[in-house]
Amino acid sequence: MFNILRQVSDYAKGTLEAAKYIGQGLAVTFDHMQRRPITVQYPYEKLIPSERFRGRIHFEFDKCISCEVCVRVCPINLPVVDWEFNKAVKKKELKHYSIDFGVCIFCANCVEYCPTNCLSMTEEYELSAYDRHELNYDNVALGRLPYKVTQDPMVTPLREFAYLPKGVVEPHDLPSGSQRSGKRPEEIVQETES
Ligand code: SF4
Ligand code: SF4
Repeated sequence: MFNILRQVSDYAKGTLEAAKYIGQGLAVTFDHMQRRPITVQYPYEKLIPSERFRGRIHFEFDKCISCEVCVRVCPINLPVVDWEFNKAVKKKELKHYSIDFGVCIFCANCVEYCPTNCLSMTEEYELSAYDRHELNYDNVALGRLPYKVTQDPMVTPLREFAYLPKGVVEPHDLPSGSQRSGKRPEEIVQETES
């Protein structure tokens, strides 16, 4: 008897949960139905990449200690760390470093695990090339910092939907200084710590 009651109660709970999730999904759909499409006139207008965007990797040659941790944590062992052992100072000496962005999956494992923080993800996503071999970046190409969308005089930067003020869906002609809805990552970290 109790067994049957428990089964009925579990079934009712499951049905209610399913109805709740369907309702949440439909709420998102109906919310989108009220919005007008917004056209970004690329390349004259560009969306500002989010704070955690994983674009082309930046590499600082002087900080690298040739430990090859980046190679071991990479799912495809991609970074090429070319070093020689310097007997005089008993240390590895970095000769050459490269990452092939034609193969990289931008997972950021290498960036997370590098012990000297000499790797970082940038906001650069325009990596198209006619020859795939041009995507194999050496340490010089990796050391170049990208031009920020917000600093490019030829481009009108636009905020992504998540960075617009509450209730605003149109990123064009936003009044300057308008605050985005929600909290910034550093505010969330501060709140968690306190
Ligand atoms: S993990 Fe960092 S320090 Fe070590 S070889 Fe890679 S880039 Fe250099
Ligand atoms: S981002 Fe991922 S795939 Fe690309 S080099 Fe780093 S670890 Fe490898």
